[in-house]
This record gives sequence, C-alpha cells and structure tokens, in this order.
Amino acid sequence: MIEELVAYGRELEAEGAAQTGGAFTASVAANELLESSANAYLLGVLFTQGIPAERAWAGPYLLRQRLGTLSLDWLAENPEVVRAAVQQPPMIHRFKETLPRWISAAARRLLDEYGGDAANVWPAGDSVIDVTERLSAFDGIGRKKAVMAVEILTRHFGVDLTGRECGQVAYDVQVRRVFLRSGLVDVDSREAIEAAAAAACPEAPGTLDLPAWLIGRATCRPKRPLCDECRLGAVCPRLVGRNVEGVGVRRGART
Ligand code: SF4
Repeated sequence: MIEELVAYGRELEAEGAAQTGGAFTASVAANELLESSANAYLLGVLFTQGIPAERAWAGPYLLRQRLGTLSLDWLAENPEVVRAAVQQPPMIHRFKETLPRWISAAARRLLDEYGGDAANVWPAGDSVIDVTERLSAFDGIGRKKAVMAVEILTRHFGVDLTGRECGQVAYDVQVRRVFLRSGLVDVDSREAIEAAAAAACPEAPGTLDLPAWLIGRATCRPKRPLCDECRLGAVCPRLVGRNVEGVGVRRGART
C-alpha cells in the first residue's frame, strides 16, 4: 500500500507537479503569473483555503486584473481598495473580510522583513523547518498551508531546501481521509498522520502530501468512494466506513 503511495508521490515529483496533478490552474495567464513572481505565489498560498484549489490559485491574477497592480507598496497602503476588489461581484474568494486583510498584511511583511521579495522567505540552502516557520508567521498561513507551500516550492519550483526529512504532509481533509481509509493510521490526528508519513517515507515525508490529496479529491470521496478507479485500489484495504469528522469543506477545497 505505502509503496504505491510513495511511488505516486515520486512520479508527481519527477513531473514537477504544481498542484491538482499538473499546473496550478486552467488559466495560462494565471499560471504564468505564479511561475514568474514569488510574490504572486505567496499571495496565492493565502487564497488556498475554503475554495477549490484551481480557483484559489487563479486569485492573484484575478486580483491584479481588478486592481491593475500587485505592487506590494500599493497592496499594503490600500487595504480598503483591496477589500473592495476581492468583494466585487463575482467575489474572488468567500473569505471576503479576512483574505483582503491577509493580503495587505503579507505585502507589509514582505516589504518590512524580506526586501519586497517573497523569494527571500525561501532562499536556496535554507531548511524546510525554517521556511515552514517563516511562512507560518504570515497572517492567513497556518501550519497546514505552510507545509503545502514548502512542498510546492521543492517539488515544482525546484527550490533547494535542506532537511527534507523534516518535511511533512499537510493535515488536510483529503489527506486525512486517505490515510484513515488506507489503514496508514487508525486515529485521525495530526501527530498520527505525520508519524505515519515519516515512517513511510523517512527521507522526505512530504512526498506523500500531493498523492494523498489528489487521491482524496478524485476517488476517495467522502461518500461513494471510487475504489475500483483509485490508484491505490489494488492494494488498499478499503476501510471506506472511516470518515473525517467535523469538516464542512466543499469538494476540491484545499483547506
Ligand atoms: S478510494 Fe478506496 S481504494 Fe482509494 S484510498 Fe480510498 S478507500 Fe482506498
């Protein structure tokens, strides 16, 4: 079972998958922005909560279209305009009050602490743990989003961070469901899932983050899981009676 999940993770790593198994979004222009601007990528991480991942990653591009700029100075100094742009119908994000605050606060932090360049948050040669902690210090980026962001930095952007053995899977609803149903854990807790990932792939536990998330979204659905179509279908014990409790997240949201 675990060998298959690790193999899937290594395939995705070899492909340099961003998220959703390929690019960030279906929009070429939105992808280009994320690929070319570390600041846009960091802002994109802020969006990855409560809405489907593809919509979230398109957020920085849509915001720039509405504002005409993603200049950090401008974002930091015009929080009310940022708020109005996010809330303009159709709203860019359902976190219509918190997300604009996170955006302006992130711009201010990048200016004050990182010379206006998010790439300085994750310089090559720094450790996974340090970068995760720096990202977690941004309003709107908790540990789960920071862990995901670090995995994307190493897997997709090729940022050379040390200590990948200290990386982790995000404690995300999709990941949790797959870990539970595949028998990798018997208890739904962050500690149990992180320990299972570390035992399964000690050299880089975070390798399991994207494959588990993709499986959770595509086939290991909360109701009516598609085991016969699942990448793990031939090896998984299919403990489909197990469910993740206490979440009310729309399908596809990366929370
Ligand atoms: S969809 Fe079925 S086979 Fe796939 S991980 Fe979930 S329970 Fe296992």
